Amino acid sequence: MLMDDYIGFTIKKQKRIALIAHDSKKHEMIEWVKTHQDILKNHFLSGTGTTARLISEYTELPVKAYNSGPLGGDQQIGSRIVEGNIDFIIFFWDPLESHPHDPDVKALLRIAAVYDIPIANNRATADFLITSQYMSEEYERKVLNYNKVINRRIGEMKK
Ligand code: PGA
Repeated sequence: MLMDDYIGFTIKKQKRIALIAHDSKKHEMIEWVKTHQDILKNHFLSGTGTTARLISEYTELPVKAYNSGPLGGDQQIGSRIVEGNIDFIIFFWDPLESHPHDPDVKALLRIAAVYDIPIANNRATADFLITSQYMSEEYERKVLNYNKVINRRIGEMKK
C-alpha cells in the first residue's frame, strides 16, 4: 500500500458520536446508553430525531437531534461524516423489518465504510467499541485518497 493512497483523519479523544435506533431497538439503545453513560458523557452526542429525544429524556445527556430517520436524519448524519463532523456511530438497526428509508440506511452504512468510521450495528459490537482503549485516545482513520482517482480520470478524458 503506497502511503499517499490514503489520507489520515484524526478521531480526537472527544468523539463526535451519532446514535440511531430503529423503533424495535430503541429500548435497547436507551439501556445501552444508560449502561455506558459515564463514558458517553465525555463525548459529543447526536442522533436521529426520535432516538435523540428519547435518550435526552431518559438520561442526563445532551443529544443534538437531526431529523427523524424517515425524514432524512440518516442522510443528514451521512453528510456530516462527509464533512468530517461525525466520527463514530452506534446504529441499532432492525434486521427483521423493512422500512421506507431502507435506501438511506444502506447509504449511511456505505458512507461510513468509505470514511473508515467506527460503526456498531448491534449491542455486542457497541460494547466492544465503547470499552476500546481508543475511546480515550486519538485514532487515525484512513480514507482513500480520491484525488489520485480524480486526476487519473481527468487525464483519461483529456486523451
Ligand atoms: P428516529 O430515526 O430516531 O427518528 O426514529 C431512526 C431511523 O429510523 O433511522
